[in-house]
Amino acid sequence: MAIHVVWLKKDLRLFDHAPIDTAIKNAQKENAQVLLVYLFEPDIMNFPDYSSFHYQFIVDSLKNLNDRLHQFKTQISIHNENAIPFFKKFLEQFPKSVFYAHEEIGNGVSYLRDEKIRHFFKQKKRPFFEFQTNGIIRGQWQKNWREQWLSAAQKAPIIPQFTTAHFATVEATFDPEISQINSHLQRGGELIAHDRLKIFLDDSLKFYRKSIGSPIEAHKHCSRLSAHLAFGNITIRQIYRQTTKHSNYEKFYPQATAFLDRLLWHCHFIQRFEHFPETEIANLNQAYNHIRDIPNHSLIELFKTGQTGFPFVDACIRCLNQTGYLNFRMRSMLISFFTHHMWQPWTEISHYLARIFLDYEPGIHYCQIQMQAGTMGIHTLRIYNPVLQGLEKDPDAYFIKKWVPELSHLETAFIHEPWKLTAMESLAYNFCLGEDYPVRILDHEKSAEYARRTLWEIKNSEEVSLDAQKILKKRPR
Ligand SMILES: Cc1cc2nc3c(=O)[nH]c(=O)nc-3n(C[C@H](O)[C@H](O)[C@H](O)COP(=O)(O)OP(=O)(O)OC[C@H]3O[C@@H](n4cnc5c(N)ncnc54)[C@H](O)[C@@H]3O)c2cc1C
Repeated sequence: MAIHVVWLKKDLRLFDHAPIDTAIKNAQKENAQVLLVYLFEPDIMNFPDYSSFHYQFIVDSLKNLNDRLHQFKTQISIHNENAIPFFKKFLEQFPKSVFYAHEEIGNGVSYLRDEKIRHFFKQKKRPFFEFQTNGIIRGQWQKNWREQWLSAAQKAPIIPQFTTAHFATVEATFDPEISQINSHLQRGGELIAHDRLKIFLDDSLKFYRKSIGSPIEAHKHCSRLSAHLAFGNITIRQIYRQTTKHSNYEKFYPQATAFLDRLLWHCHFIQRFEHFPETEIANLNQAYNHIRDIPNHSLIELFKTGQTGFPFVDACIRCLNQTGYLNFRMRSMLISFFTHHMWQPWTEISHYLARIFLDYEPGIHYCQIQMQAGTMGIHTLRIYNPVLQGLEKDPDAYFIKKWVPELSHLETAFIHEPWKLTAMESLAYNFCLGEDYPVRILDHEKSAEYARRTLWEIKNSEEVSLDAQKILKKRPR
């Protein structure tokens, strides 16, 4: 019997899903059935960018799909196995099967896996249909995103009409379970993603632009769709359509445009990563290779655990460690602090951050890290002052008080700079710097000065400029 197998990867949804739609159409023609498969692949899960955060989100998303597939008397067939051994065994049982999947612009591991699987199906002479994700094109440069999202290029109907007859009858094969749910994390699932979008457009769009910069306001009023996008609970096309036809679109046009611009950036960065996959592992501009090459592991540990002695930095990392989410500006500040003030190589933190960013998307992640670290040599250098950022983005120190509670009884000015307390004031607050909260690991003004001087010297060098020209030439606009 031929089975039309849809291999779900980071596309955990039923709607606007070209592989599912095409598999159903093809299966109908020959009265065959469709099977949805998800693999928890050890090769992917053992890589240091994967974490229990991502696992929980995937399990949530699969459960959400299974709940809805119940009415069609099917479940996703879920296995703990790498792709090649799984499909090899599958073909021994169902040699005439046909396969469908989305292309994944992921990390180096998923890229190699996809190459191997393509080769494997070719060798086995089995059809394997692959589809673009959010209009991103393998091996080419793409820039007309809006046209892509609106055009017939992605042919799946937004809401397909499933019937029981479409799917193979599969017993629930859901063995992966998570014993402890982290209740701070956003929950995964296609329906949850659509609810999130609706709440954002109905209630938060009007506050969007003024909320982006603040870690508290962004949490409430940004779309919070990034994790849903990373695991494919929702597509850019769906978000674009919902936004442009919403009654608030015209009413809050500048806000809506700012939001849609970020969807363009999302695709732009992933497309750029497709063009420069080496961004994952090495400085894009090699002239920066000789700086920051000796990591200080004890400093790095203090950063990861939020013990740098800089309250706003510590609050940001502790928030991420618990919730998996932080707004854009504060993520930028963390990279700036790590690479410029601490003078550490970004490669020493990129996997750690990937694990604690619930929305980890390799294309955006590595490009943004290198941009903020200044190792591309094609952007303006930004060194964020960690104290001024706190004073500006968290003036009343609510965010710091929440995540660094050991400072919460101090006066606001001291919460931002506890090292400014005199001995008398420390006594009055019953607070001892170094015991109740760490002494700061560096002098941020001196370290910023050193970074600025060193990086500008390098940036002005012929070596950087030659590499920068090569990058710009290879990256069409
Ligand atoms: C060092 C660093 C690492 C980052 N890593 C990731 C990552 O792994 N995954 C990720 O999705 N975003 C990443 N970002 C971008 C950004 O911080 C998040 O997309 C955003 O904070 C997610 O919140 P939101 O969904 O509420 O965004 P909104 O402001 O509501 O934006 C809507 C969507 O647009 C996209 N978007 C927003 N800002 C950006 C941006 N600057 N670049 C590209 N796309 C953007 C996201 O898909 C987001 O969901 C990173 C930023 C930095 C500085």
